[in-house]
Amino acid sequence: MNDTDGLYARAHKVIIEQWLPLQKGKTFTTEDVIRYFKADGVRNYRDGSSPLEFRRALATVLWNITHRNKTPDLEQNGNRYRLINRDFKVVTPGSTKGGNDFPIVWPRGVSDNTEFGFASTVVVKKGDVLGLGGEGNRGKSAFALNLTTENMDTHPVTLVLSENVHRLEDRLSHFDWVELLKPDGNWKFEVLEAHGSEEFLDIVRERANNLVIIDWLSVTKEAYLVADFYRSVSTLLNDGVCLVVQQKRSYKEYVVGGEGALDNCSVFLILTPGILEVAKAKEWQYNNPNNAMYRFAITNDGSRFCSIGEVKKCPECHGNKFVKGVKCGRCYGNGFIDVLEEI
Ligand SMILES: [Zn+2]
Repeated sequence: MNDTDGLYARAHKVIIEQWLPLQKGKTFTTEDVIRYFKADGVRNYRDGSSPLEFRRALATVLWNITHRNKTPDLEQNGNRYRLINRDFKVVTPGSTKGGNDFPIVWPRGVSDNTEFGFASTVVVKKGDVLGLGGEGNRGKSAFALNLTTENMDTHPVTLVLSENVHRLEDRLSHFDWVELLKPDGNWKFEVLEAHGSEEFLDIVRERANNLVIIDWLSVTKEAYLVADFYRSVSTLLNDGVCLVVQQKRSYKEYVVGGEGALDNCSVFLILTPGILEVAKAKEWQYNNPNNAMYRFAITNDGSRFCSIGEVKKCPECHGNKFVKGVKCGRCYGNGFIDVLEEI
């Protein structure tokens, strides 16, 4: 096999195995493919080919699939390609009656019976992507672990960790209100260590019917890649649901790629110190939880949520904690006051 054949084979493999599975129902250009595989850089690949040669190979593969091999079915319209879908989900009588719900138990105050109010009203469907953005170490992992343990008896759960794997058993040792182990000594959930969005997508592809919890997605790249990641997760899921925990940068209002993330998530939550906010809830049953905010505390070495209650921005200081340089007397400098429960 000469170098050109090897290059063509590599381009063919990545297009068939990695690119096209993400393209159901979408159109794309050769440039989209090149950007996705970062073939626009300057480095040489291991086999000695240059990005320019790899770009050419990707373009040739797309043309050949479309006009020669015709497998899978690609059609070309101008400079855009589209994957023709011949595999539509068949809907039969009775198959849609509430059958698409994916009931989730959200983290809650297990010792004091407090709960995040959105939990009882928000609707999660099969195939949904959920997002959780937060700064630094502000309870994101506690949230991910609690979501894991709350659902491990009712759903196949896959917890994907990108760091602190060595601390997992220590952290789980504080979850003394639940039985974490099966009779065979294994956890009731699966734990995988993975790094980077490509590996996360590989896991979602293989666990498309599970509750997949990714803790966490490191994003230092451009916003469109974040949007594309969320879109890809949503395309790959079948009957499962995926929670993506993402770093929030304090200088951005949401997360990197915030709008793309919000567009592709059915629920998006933001964690700031002591406050959880519902940035988006696409569907709900009783009352609209969009923009609702809840205070909470975490005890027992980062394992247990407690003292959860709905709050709103203080009407006196408007969340600024100070009025004319003096600590706000209405909210005691918290910036928030409790929403009184209606009788
Ligand atoms: Zn105030």
